[in-house]
Amino acid sequence: MKHNRVIVWFRNDLRISDNETLTRAIQSGIEIIPVYCFDPRMWAKTELGIAKTGAFRTQFLIESVDDLRKSIRNLGGDLIILQGKPEDKVVELAEKIQAKAIFFSQEVTSEEKDVDKSLESAAFAKGITTESFWQSTLYHIEDLPFPVSQTPEVFTHFRKAVEKMAKVRPSWKTPKTINYPSDLDFSLLGNLPSLLTYGLEKPDRDAKSWMEVEGGEQSGFGRLRSYFWEKDLLKVYKETRNGLIGMDYSSKFSPWLALGCISPRSIVEEITSYEKERKKNESTYWLIFELIWRDYFRFIAKKHGDKIFNIQGIKNQEDSWSRDKSQFEAWAEGMTGVPFVDANMRELNATGFMSNRGRQIVASFLVNDLGIDWTWGASYFESQLIDYDVCSNWGNWMYVGGVGNDPRENRYFNILRQAKNYDRNGEYVRIMIPELQAIKGFDIHQPWELSTSQLRSLKIQFGHTYPQPLRKIPTLEKAY
Ligand code: FAD
Repeated sequence: MKHNRVIVWFRNDLRISDNETLTRAIQSGIEIIPVYCFDPRMWAKTELGIAKTGAFRTQFLIESVDDLRKSIRNLGGDLIILQGKPEDKVVELAEKIQAKAIFFSQEVTSEEKDVDKSLESAAFAKGITTESFWQSTLYHIEDLPFPVSQTPEVFTHFRKAVEKMAKVRPSWKTPKTINYPSDLDFSLLGNLPSLLTYGLEKPDRDAKSWMEVEGGEQSGFGRLRSYFWEKDLLKVYKETRNGLIGMDYSSKFSPWLALGCISPRSIVEEITSYEKERKKNESTYWLIFELIWRDYFRFIAKKHGDKIFNIQGIKNQEDSWSRDKSQFEAWAEGMTGVPFVDANMRELNATGFMSNRGRQIVASFLVNDLGIDWTWGASYFESQLIDYDVCSNWGNWMYVGGVGNDPRENRYFNILRQAKNYDRNGEYVRIMIPELQAIKGFDIHQPWELSTSQLRSLKIQFGHTYPQPLRKIPTLEKAY
């Protein structure tokens, strides 16, 4: 044992299962002091004038930290909650309680890495050691069959290489106890902030919300048990994953994965058990396939650094984007006059979640139909999404914006074709856009095709009850 007192600084690894940082600290230190620090910079305003972290994710984060505290208490320890810049607060605490080391998990993007660097130098100046560990991906960075700097640009190449040449490491066992110092001043523990601390209001759970998710490792594993074992849905995941309505068409693991309440390795271990006990088929593999996408965007972010946030992207494309604020706001509010786009944006605003299909459609509309700066879209998602993950979000947006690493030249989504394939009878739009509810069948996707007398009898008035479309979108026939 190298250290006599170690701080474990939790970040996006809010769990006690499969947590290398925590386990290594337990192995190396006599006494463990778990800490979480709410960093006010997470609620700073973006260029768009909105908070980086909106109410849904803030609520989920607070619940996750609360759950972590309970889990650690069950192990005989406690979680100290700090508020402020971690490079100041965590180091001050370490000095105060005479911790000899701070352990934490590595991040890949610049804002987070800048915090690491500042914390490391502040700690070094006080004679405190730091150790950081790679977590969060399915494949460990050291097991990649190429240096990160040579991560293949094309997803399929990446996937085939890791599937062939790398192995997923077994998960770390959940610790049974934590040796928490008995003499720590109780007043150090700190309280959880509330939404009000960040000037946010508790989001209303309205009729549109089937996203019944609660932050924390316990509920993350609860969702996993329910989706795999109780509802037995894993075996049909590939067929249902492009759905739009309800909690069960896809796993909905993303909010827990984003904050590290559950690790991708734990999910894959559970998939393997399911395959042994119930069924192994394309669907069970497909969930692993999607988790490899998540890894891919993380390694691409590590490879390209800040380029993933730049308007030119990693392709160095010329900046010829529009920055029409009023059109952007119409998109963000779900008021473009294109029902399928508006329905998805309204779901995002009302629940903090949107299906993968929806995300691709609204992103394509913003960048391809409106020609608006893709980074604005990415920033808006960053603020609203309950499952915001810096690498997955900016990586996917680059992809749709055509400045990422997609080998396909054209990522245009024909909205009506998408509607025909995924919301044929307009059921989804009918839930999200009550003012169009009276329109029957597929017509709800193209209200502009209705005659004046039909519109009158349905009490729909463009520009009054529902907006005129911002853009004339291609007809179904123009779809490919
Ligand atoms: P499932 O279909 O059940 O997939 C299981 C898991 O695989 C997901 O939880 C996620 O971790 C991973 N995954 C699936 N698809 C992708 C993908 N395309 N890229 C990376 N990982 C994937 N996902 C986020 O987690 N956070 C984001 O901020 C985010 N922003 C996005 C922005 C855009 C423009 C687009 C097109 C996609 C974005 N995604 C993001 C990816 C994807 O839409 C979500 O992961 C998925 O909808 C979450 O629902 P689920 O957990 O039910 O997914």
